[in-house]
Amino acid sequence: MIPYTRVVTRTLRGLALFVGTLLGSACSPAPPSALPVPDHIVLVTIDTLRADHLSWQGYPLETTPFLSQFAADGVVFRNAFSASSHTAPSHASLFTGLHPYQHGVIENGGQLDSRFQTLAAVFRRAGYETAGFTGVGFLDGLRPGFETLTAVSATKEGPRGGYVVLGHAQRWLAERPRDAKFFLWVHFYDVHEWRHQLARYQNVREQFREGSEMDARETLAWVQTHHRVSASSFSESDLDPALSLLRYDSQILYVDRLVSYLSRTLERRFDGTTLWIVTSDHGEGLGSHDYLGHGRFLYQEQLHVPLLFHFTTEDSAPAPWRGRVVDETVRLVDLLGTLDEVVASRAPGDEPRKGIPPDGRSLVPLLLGQSDGPPRPPSFAQRRPVKTIWSEPKERLYSLHDHASKLIVSDSGREEFYDLIQDSGETSNLEGPSESRARLSEELRRRMQEMETSEDRDSNFHFDPRHEAELRALGYLE
Ligand SMILES: [Zn+2]
Repeated sequence: MIPYTRVVTRTLRGLALFVGTLLGSACSPAPPSALPVPDHIVLVTIDTLRADHLSWQGYPLETTPFLSQFAADGVVFRNAFSASSHTAPSHASLFTGLHPYQHGVIENGGQLDSRFQTLAAVFRRAGYETAGFTGVGFLDGLRPGFETLTAVSATKEGPRGGYVVLGHAQRWLAERPRDAKFFLWVHFYDVHEWRHQLARYQNVREQFREGSEMDARETLAWVQTHHRVSASSFSESDLDPALSLLRYDSQILYVDRLVSYLSRTLERRFDGTTLWIVTSDHGEGLGSHDYLGHGRFLYQEQLHVPLLFHFTTEDSAPAPWRGRVVDETVRLVDLLGTLDEVVASRAPGDEPRKGIPPDGRSLVPLLLGQSDGPPRPPSFAQRRPVKTIWSEPKERLYSLHDHASKLIVSDSGREEFYDLIQDSGETSNLEGPSESRARLSEELRRRMQEMETSEDRDSNFHFDPRHEAELRALGYLE
C-alpha cells in the first residue's frame, strides 16, 4: 500500500505561503491574489462517499492514495455539505447553486428544467466545450448546459463499473485537439454498490486488505468508536460487518485508481492547467444512527462530503491554493458561483441570469486564503419526498446547520437539535430554547414558508419515465 500521505500542517503551509509571496511574482504565471484560469475543468463526483472515510479527513486507512496527493497540494474543504442525501437532487443542487425545492429535482429520475442556470452553461458561455459521463442513467436529467452527456444505464444485473464510464470519457478526450478547452464531469457509482458482492471488485478488495495497516476487525472497532456504530446496527444485513466495511473502503480505492488513470490521460494529451474538483453527492450511514444506507436521514454522515480543489499546472511554483485546508462550513451549492468567478464567464454588463438567483456564495476567497467577509450561511438540506420514503414516520424532513449547531425539523412539527461541537455524532437531542436554536429555526422556517408559497413545490417535479426500469433495478422504486 502506498504510504499514508498526511496533509501538510498549517505551520508548514504558512511557511510555504510566506516563501510563495516572496518568490511568487518571479515564478508563478498568476498574481498571488488570483487563481489560474484553467484550460480544463474536471469535476469528479464519487457517489455515496462519506467524508470521514478519507485519510485527509482523519480515516486511519489510506483509501485514496492518488487523491491524497491532490489533497496535499490543493485546497481541502474539511466541512463541505450537500443539499440532500439523495443522488439526483444533490447533483442538481451542485449544478445549479439552488436547493432541491428551488430547482425541482426532488428525487432520482427527475429532469432539470432548462430555464435554470447550470455549471455546464457557465462553462459554455466562457468558451469551454462541455461533456458529462455518469455511472447511472437517471442522471441524464441533468443535461441542460451539456453539449455531450452520456449516462451509462444500469442493467438487470445492476450498474456497470466505473471503468465503463471512464472508457466513455477517455474516448471523448481522445477526439479533442491538444489545445482543447473543456469542462468534463465524470460520475462514479462504484462506492454506492458496496453492499453487493460484485466480482469486479474482488482484486482491489484483496489488494486493499493486504496493503492495510489494520485488519478488517480492527477497522470495524475503529469505526464503531469513531462513527458511534453499535455492532448490532450492521445486523440488518446478513453481511459480516467487518467485510462490509472492507468492501466500502476498497471500492473507494477502486475509484481512486480510475481517477488516477483519468489524470494520466489528461496529462499525456493536453497542455495547460487543469482544475480538478472532487466531491460526492452524499455520505452513507455505515451503521451510524443504526442505518447502513442513505436517503432516509439528514444526519451529518449523510450530508458531509469530501470537497477538494486541485490545480494541475505546468510549474510547481508556490501559490496560495497549494496545501490549504479550509475549516469553514461550505456547501455544494457554493460551487456554481465559485466556478463562475474562476472562469469569469460573465463580463460586466452582461444580461443577468434567468430564473432564481443561486443560493450559493463563492469559495474563491477561501481558495486564496483571503478575508472571507461575514460568516457563511448555514447549510440547508431536504430529504427525498415522502412518497418514496419507506421508513416511518412519513413526513417531510429539513435540516439546517452551521459549524456549532444543527436543527432538524419535520413538517409534522417534530424537532431535533444538536450541539455539533460537543456531540458531532448527533446522539443527544437537546431540548429547550437557545440563541443558536432560535437563529436556525427562524431561517429554516423561512425556507419552509418559501416552499409552501412556491407555486412550483412538488408539482415542479418532472419524472422521466425512461428511467423507471433502471430505478426499479437499483431499488429506488418499490
Ligand atoms: Zn448518490
